[in-house]
Amino acid sequence: MAIQKSYDVIVIGAGPGGYVAAIRAAQLGLKTAVIEMYPRLGGTCLNVGCIPSKALLESSERFAMIKHDAAKHGIKVDGVALDLPTMHERRKAVVAQLTGGVDMLFKKHKIDWLAGKGSLVGKIAEGSASPSSSSQHGVSVAPTDGKEPFVVAGDSIILASGSVPSALRGIAYDHERIIDSTGALELPEVPKHLVLVGAGVIGLELGSVWCRLGAKVTVVEYLDRILPGVDLEIAKEAHKSLAKQGLEFVLGARVKSAVRNGEEVTVTYADKDDQEHTLVGDYALIAVGRRPYTEGLGLEAAGVRLDERGRVIVDDELQTTASGIFAIGDVIRGPMLAHKAEDEGVAVAETLAGQVGHVNYDAVPSIVYTHPEVAGVGKTEEELVAAEIPFVKGKFKFGPNGRALALGETEGLVKILAHKETDRILGAHIFGPRAGDLIAELAVAIELGASAEDIARSCHAHPTLSEVVREAALDCARRSLHK
Ligand code: FAD
Ligand code: NAD
Repeated sequence: MAIQKSYDVIVIGAGPGGYVAAIRAAQLGLKTAVIEMYPRLGGTCLNVGCIPSKALLESSERFAMIKHDAAKHGIKVDGVALDLPTMHERRKAVVAQLTGGVDMLFKKHKIDWLAGKGSLVGKIAEGSASPSSSSQHGVSVAPTDGKEPFVVAGDSIILASGSVPSALRGIAYDHERIIDSTGALELPEVPKHLVLVGAGVIGLELGSVWCRLGAKVTVVEYLDRILPGVDLEIAKEAHKSLAKQGLEFVLGARVKSAVRNGEEVTVTYADKDDQEHTLVGDYALIAVGRRPYTEGLGLEAAGVRLDERGRVIVDDELQTTASGIFAIGDVIRGPMLAHKAEDEGVAVAETLAGQVGHVNYDAVPSIVYTHPEVAGVGKTEEELVAAEIPFVKGKFKFGPNGRALALGETEGLVKILAHKETDRILGAHIFGPRAGDLIAELAVAIELGASAEDIARSCHAHPTLSEVVREAALDCARRSLHK
C-alpha cells in the first residue's frame, strides 16, 4: 500500500476533542486530517450525547412547565398533549444543524475528513507503507464506503477515539427494552415504568426527561447517595428535589441482572444485607458509566500503553508512551466531559505548533442538566476535608432572591469554599436555577486565582440570579447583606 497523503497532524476521532484539536491545528497553519468512522462529525457529544439529551431535556421541561406550572402564572392552557414524534424530529434537527456546522468548519479550515476507521501501523518511510525508522507515523484507513483501505502519514497523531457505555456483568443490552443512553434518546413511546440502573449524570438527566413526559421512573443505585463526585450537600438537595418531582430512588442496591420477557424487563438487585429484590418495568436503562474506546486502534504495535482501567496513558503534555502520538478526551484520565476534551484538543494543537499548551483541571466545571441544575467547579467540601486544607464556607439560598421569586424558581443554594487564610476560591457548587450558567463566573474566578472578596466586591446586576453568587461570596466573610 502506497502512502496516499502526508500531513502535519492526523486526528483519529471527530468528537469535541478531535474536531476542536483539528480546527486549532489548522488555525495555527498545520496541514490536518481527521479520520472519523461515524457517518457524521461531532462524536458522542453532538450525535448521541450532550446535544440530543439537552434538546429532549428542554422540550420535556417546557411540557412539564405548561402542564403543571403555567396556571400559577395565571396562564390557562387546556388540552395539553404530547406529540413525541415531533419532539424527536426537533431533536434530530438540532443534531443535524450542529454536525453539519462542524462539516462546514472543516471545509473553511481546509481540514480533510477521511471517512473510515483509523488504525496505527507504526512508523513508515516516505513513499511506502512498510514499517521504518522514519519520523512519520502511518495510519491505515478502512473507508466506511467499503473501498480499498489506504495509508496516510502524519508527523504527529492525536488519538481522540472517545468512550462507549460500560457493560454490567449479568446484563446484555437488547437495544429495544434493555437500553443504553443512545436507546433512551430514541424511545418510540413513553415507558409505563422505566427502571433505571445508576443515579449518575446520564441516569438523572434521561430519567428526568421520561419522568416529565409521564413515565414512572425508578432509579436503582449501588451507593447510598446519588451523583457520586458531586459535593455531597449539593447532591442531597438535588436528591430531595428530584424525589419531589416523582423520581423514585432505591439506594444501596447492586443490580445483578436484567432479563427481558416479552414487553417486560425484570431487574434484580441485592440490598446491603445481600437480600435479592426485583423490579418489573417495560424498559430498563443501564447507565453505570462509560469506558474508553480503543478497539482496533493498533495501539500495541505503535507502543501506546493503557492503564489498568483501559485508558490511554499520557504525560503532562498529553503525549502517550509513544513519541509523537498524543491522546485527549474520554480516552484518557479525567472527567468525561466535552469541554474538557475540547480544552485538551486546543492544548495539544498549540504544543504541536510550538506554543505552550495547558489545561487547568481545577477550573473545569461540570453540570447536571436536571431541573433545577447542579453545577460545580474546583474542590468539593469532602475533598478539602480529606486533604486537610483549611477552608471557610459561604452559602446563600435562592429563596430570598428577587429574580428567583419572579421566575418561580426559589429552590437551591450557592456554596463557595475559600481558603481559610488566603481567601482564594478553591471550589464552588450550585444547585438551583440556571446553575450551569452561573458556574461560569466561578470557573473564571478559579482560573484567575480570585478570592471570595474579589467576587463580593464585583458589582452584580439587579435583579439577577448572579446576586446569589455574590451573597455566597459575602457569606465567606459572614457579611451577607440579605441574610
Ligand atoms: P467522542 O465524542 O466519544 O468522539 C469520539 C469519536 O471517535 C467518535 O465519533 C467515534 O466514532 C470516533 N472513533 C473512535 N475510534 C475511531 C477509529 N478507530 N477510527 C475513526 N473514528 C473513530 N459532556 C458534557 O460535557 N456535557 C454534557 O451535557 C454531556 N452530556 C452527555 C449525555 C450523554 C447521553 C452522553 C452519552 C455523554 C454526555 N457527555 C456530556 C459526555 C461527552 O459526550 C463526552 O465527554 C465527549 O463526547 C468526549 O469527547 P471525545 O472527543 O473524547 O470523544
Ligand atoms: P456515572 O459514573 O455518572 O454514574 C454511574 C452510576 O451507576 C454510579 O452512581 C454508580 O455507583 C452506579 N452503578 C454502577 N454499577 C451499579 C450497579 N451494579 N447497580 C446499581 N448502580 C450501579 O456514569 P453515567 O451516568 O453512565 O455517565 C457516564 C459519563 O458521561 C459520566 O462520566 C459523565 O461525565 C458523562 N456525562 C456527562 C453529562 C454532563 O456533563 N451533563 C451528561 C451525561 C453524561
